[in-house]
Amino acid sequence: MSPTRISRWIVLTDLDGTLLDHHNYQAEAAKESLSLLAQHNIPCIFNTSKTFAEVVQLRQQLGNSSPFVCENGSALFIAKNNAETAGFSTDQADYNSEIIATPYADLLRFLFQARQQGFSFRSFNDMPASEVAAMTGLDEQQAWLAKQRCASEPLLWQGDDHSLQQFRQLIRQHKLQLIQGGRFYHLMGDADKASAIGFFRNYYAHQYQLAPSQIGVIALGDGENDRNMLEQSDQPVVIPAACGQPLTLTHSQTITATSPGPAGWNQALLAWLEKHY
Ligand SMILES: [Mg+2]
Repeated sequence: MSPTRISRWIVLTDLDGTLLDHHNYQAEAAKESLSLLAQHNIPCIFNTSKTFAEVVQLRQQLGNSSPFVCENGSALFIAKNNAETAGFSTDQADYNSEIIATPYADLLRFLFQARQQGFSFRSFNDMPASEVAAMTGLDEQQAWLAKQRCASEPLLWQGDDHSLQQFRQLIRQHKLQLIQGGRFYHLMGDADKASAIGFFRNYYAHQYQLAPSQIGVIALGDGENDRNMLEQSDQPVVIPAACGQPLTLTHSQTITATSPGPAGWNQALLAWLEKHY
């Protein structure tokens, strides 16, 4: 794939530890690149494990009205053409959405049955917001937003390793997956952060009257759950993790930012924009 075929670029970015600082969840250091992307009409699509309710708040704060992807690739949202809200609504009814993976109600039904079979865990749906806050370090209002889910469920495993293996087997039988995150396991259907790439190539090809292959994707991420998205992009940008080694990719175009979080995000995109615009 030669980059010369590309006429328009779009950005897909992870949030935590990438656009947002790992510790204070701020994007301040990336302001300059964010506003340059907006000036060049390059969509900046958030692609995150966060929920709809969390992302719409952040989009408002950052003045971002691009489409976005929630819950590790399992649901995507595009603001409806509404002059009043101008793409910043916090009401899900103002968005067209596509649930790519298994809907939340089906996940809860699965967990209910698993518990009846004797598996031991505690998931977000079992926890009041105060408990989610205590587990995650979010404040209670943010924890409440994190509990509003549509296609994935974080859980703490309370059984032993052997029962976890059996639980994984049951998950595979139901065509679901269990992803290990920092603090939690995430139960979800068959999707990941790369699932949105094909969708947005087609979506913007249609918008710009181009072929999907003419839409270039810059992807930025810092974690293992970003790997497929980065590998399947045209221009992967690895943001060094706050602790531990940066991801190593097989993609020949890989850029690794010089610092973690939004400062690295800013530096890498400024350098890239300077070269391409
Ligand atoms: Mg991350």
